[in-house]
Formats: sequence, structure tokens, C-alpha cells
Amino acid sequence: MRARNKPWAEDHLKAHPQYVPAEPESHKGKWKADVFGNHNELHIEVGSGKGRFITEMAKMHPDVNYIAIELSESIAISALDRMIEADIPNVKLLTINAEILGDVFERGEVDRVYLNFSDPWPKTRHEKRRLTFKKFLDLYKTVLPENGEIHFKTDNRGLFEYSLQSFSAYGLLLTYVSLDLHNSDFEGNVMTEYEEKFSSMGQSIYRCEVRYQ
Ligand code: SAM
Repeated sequence: MRARNKPWAEDHLKAHPQYVPAEPESHKGKWKADVFGNHNELHIEVGSGKGRFITEMAKMHPDVNYIAIELSESIAISALDRMIEADIPNVKLLTINAEILGDVFERGEVDRVYLNFSDPWPKTRHEKRRLTFKKFLDLYKTVLPENGEIHFKTDNRGLFEYSLQSFSAYGLLLTYVSLDLHNSDFEGNVMTEYEEKFSSMGQSIYRCEVRYQ
């Protein structure tokens, strides 16, 4: 996702610490108790874009804590605006690179990782940037509990096939797969911005759930 650089984005994010906690590393190991004020499950979405999925999920599941992880401040401000409008306590936003997840969360602190419509990086030389590359699977493992789960969906068949292979080579257990999510019996799907766009163009949506063992 490309967004025009918005120089005021940083100030807008900083002005809303109730949604965008400053110094995320300082909350490592204490997100639930200190930031959310409860011990509910914590689910994160890596590469959350404009935040439709995570904000809608937070509205539907008030007993789950959600954190959106988005690298680009210019994109994240749209997610922040959604959160402000929703006015709910169980969703937060971090404008960090997923590469530092291990500095921000303790082992087992995150109960589930969502990856939605991750950038496909189709060139082989860019494989290391794909959010389902082994390096990222290592990172998710450092923040999830022993049998933690990743839920992944995309319209990109190449990325989906690559990711299934990457998950399998890593030893992850495939517990759910659909090659056509919108025509499957899966219930409770919440569409992302990209999902809305690509499915309206007639593209199938691929989805899977995998578990560390
Ligand atoms: N999930 C959203 C959706 O489905 O509409 C956005 C999809 S967009 C194609 C992918 C997003 O992932 C972009 O906003 C990009 O900035 C973000 N992203 C890519 N690599 C990232 C990383 N290493 N850490 C955090 N965010 C990342």
C-alpha cells in the first residue's frame, strides 16, 4: 500500500496516546494489565493498513484486546481516525516495523497474529520482506505462546502458495484452509480495505490458520 507522505501524521499520532501508546518497548510484558487494564487475550494484526479489520474486530469482540501494527505513519493515521470514531477501549495502534516485535512483546504475551493482504513482494530477491518469510515466523514465535496461531488471508495466489510452503517448512500445523473464503462456510469474516477492493473485482480470497507446535 502506498500513501502520499503526510508530514503532519507524526503529530496527529502523538496527539492521541490513548490509542497510540508512546515508547511501546516500555510496555513489554505489561500490555494487558497496564495498557488495557485487564487480562483478556491480545490479538495483533501485522500490516494493518487503514485499520478497518482491527477496529471492526474490536467492536465485535469487546472481550479481546487488539493492537494494529503498521509501519507507515501516513497510512496509520486512517486507522487512528477509525479508532477515535469507534471510541472503544480495546484497540490500540503501533507505528513500528514488525521486525522489532520481540522488543515490544514478551514471549506468550500475544495470543494470536493476523496477517491480512500482506505485501506480496513477488521478486525472489525480496523474499525476506514477505511477512510469512521464515525470519518473521521466528519473530511471531517469540511473542506467541507455545501453540499460538497465525490467521492469514490474501487475494494473491502466489503469496498464498509461498506462505503455505513457508509454514509447512517451519513445522506449523495447518488447521484451516479455504481457497474461496467468501463462498465458504466460514462465519464471522470481517473484511479489510484490500479485501473489499479485490473481492469486488471478482477475485477469490484465500485464507488459512496455522498453529505453532
Ligand atoms: N491489512 C490491510 C488490508 O488488508 O487492507 C493492508 C494491506 S497493505 C497491502 C500491507 C500493509 O502492511 C501496508 O500498509 C504496509 O505499510 C504494511 N507493512 C508492510 N511491511 C510491514 C512491516 N514489516 N511492519 C509493519 N507493517 C508492514
